Amino acid sequence: MHELSLMESITKTLRASAAENGITKITRIRLVVGKLTMALPEALQYAFEVFKSEELFQDAVLEIAEEPVRGECQKCHHRFEINDGEFSCPACGSLRVKLVGGRELYIDFYEGD
Ligand SMILES: [Zn+2]
Repeated sequence: MHELSLMESITKTLRASAAENGITKITRIRLVVGKLTMALPEALQYAFEVFKSEELFQDAVLEIAEEPVRGECQKCHHRFEINDGEFSCPACGSLRVKLVGGRELYIDFYEGD
């Protein structure tokens, strides 16, 4: 399961960071997940439940912000959201579009005491 291994590495990062900052309980986590990562928010939430047996995560609320797929036209430099595989530039119609967003997956921030 893709999402479980993603959550494994996310919780690993959080554990290390919390230890460094003397945090024993995390209350809120915000993740940014690009649509091209193919990670489903519901599946990430579900995978996160596995880690709630740990004291550090038991009261944590996981928020997931989905980032759309974004392209930049190589002809007119217009930036736009790509929906349903529509890869042509809406401004000039060019097909020379470079992907500039949608692959990200990172911890935006977390809170705890
Ligand atoms: Zn264009």
